Amino acid sequence: MRIRSIGSKLTLWYTGLLALTYLFLFIIAYGLLSYSLSHDIDYALENIGGAMVEKAKAEDSSLYSIDIDELFHSYFGFSPHNRHAIIFDAYPPPDENQGESNPQQMSVSRDAMEKALRAKSHFETVSNGDKYPLRIITMPVHKSSKLTSLVRVGMSLENMHRTKQRFLLIMGAVFPIGLLLAGGGGWLLAREALRPVDQMTQTAQKISGEQLNQRLQESGNGDELDRLASTLNSMLDRLYAAFDQMRQFSGDASHELQTPLTILKGEMEVALRKQRTPLEYQCVLGSGLEEIDKINHLVEGLLLISRADAGVLGLDMQPIELDTFALDILEQMRTIADPYDITLEMQSSEPFAISGDRDHLRRLLHNLLGNAIKYSRSGGYVKLKVYQQKEWAVLQVSDSGIGIPEEELGNIFNRFHRATATGSRDRKGFGLGLSIVDSIVQAHKGKIEVESIPNQGSTFRIFLPMV
Ligand code: ADP
Repeated sequence: MRIRSIGSKLTLWYTGLLALTYLFLFIIAYGLLSYSLSHDIDYALENIGGAMVEKAKAEDSSLYSIDIDELFHSYFGFSPHNRHAIIFDAYPPPDENQGESNPQQMSVSRDAMEKALRAKSHFETVSNGDKYPLRIITMPVHKSSKLTSLVRVGMSLENMHRTKQRFLLIMGAVFPIGLLLAGGGGWLLAREALRPVDQMTQTAQKISGEQLNQRLQESGNGDELDRLASTLNSMLDRLYAAFDQMRQFSGDASHELQTPLTILKGEMEVALRKQRTPLEYQCVLGSGLEEIDKINHLVEGLLLISRADAGVLGLDMQPIELDTFALDILEQMRTIADPYDITLEMQSSEPFAISGDRDHLRRLLHNLLGNAIKYSRSGGYVKLKVYQQKEWAVLQVSDSGIGIPEEELGNIFNRFHRATATGSRDRKGFGLGLSIVDSIVQAHKGKIEVESIPNQGSTFRIFLPMV
């Protein structure tokens, strides 16, 4: 089964890790407890044994004068019921017992004997057929460097085993309960922490192209989810602006197309109302063609912009001798500039070539020079300069025209944007010329600079990469 909810996944991970930690701690605690219990027992047995060894060494030793219960009591705080203490002669070993004993349980092992001969004590755990084993220490008694007796002290490990069992029992009960509580708490916490995500999902589901003005709720506490909401909101802002621009664009485009079509339709309707002379029909058709040219021009421009937007402008890159190419276009523009007595001038440095799309760059220069002529006063000038600047080829068009107010400079590349004051002269346009220039420059990976002083003139610089 695949778990889809982050809350459940987090809870599972958290509980799993907690269980591992518990297990780890439990193993350590159990180990420490076992070690400490056996250590305590060994320590006590060693001390009781030590006391008995001292006693055995004394000339007048008598085991019966040792109160074993008291000894056990002094080390354990109680006297275990299954405890033994014996002193017996080392030779012959070891069934000649003295004192309180249990021969079967306390018989000396080979290891203990060997160690006793080397004057060392020996611990062993012996199973005596009882439920719990015995822990026994065997200690040698030397008199005049001779092993005379052995002291054996032992006790049942029942208490230790019971304590360990109790520990296991408590842990066994606490472990699942603790895990259950921690898991439940973790799940509640995860659900609470992820609640804003659910809210975001619900709001996001409501947002569509028509309802892009809805925003996700921001908690304002600066946490990860708040930052996510704020990032998504900024993205929605950008999307909203883009949608708005698109809506505006298609609205403007239809409006611009509608005007020449209405004129065309009107002229045809008027012409058809009565019988006309051939000359009159010629006039109407001529004017109709003009409108169709405008529509054609507009549609071409729109097509170019939308292709550039979609990244499919499809440049046909060829080597272009930029100075001669620019001069040719400038010459073509003379027919437009001459009626307004505007001087066209070419300034160019060394001849050089770049790689670019001829048709698109022609259109770019047409638009820039066309604007420079359109927004110049009669008797003014338009200068075209082509030069290299580091890794850029620069096309510079400057005019002595009406200029662009500073507050308009940021808008002139927007689609269908036309500056409000264009002067008294007839300066028709769709407001698409500079958008097209911008798209072509972007497609060539270039950049644009504009400088303008109202009533003095404007300078447009197009930077195209040399390689
Ligand atoms: P259009 O010329 O069709 O209005 P453009 O996109 O070519 O559209 O230009 C946008 C606006 O930028 C123009 O309406 C005009 O106000 C301003 N503009 C462009 N070129 C010049 C120029 N050389 N001198 C002054 N204003 C200019």
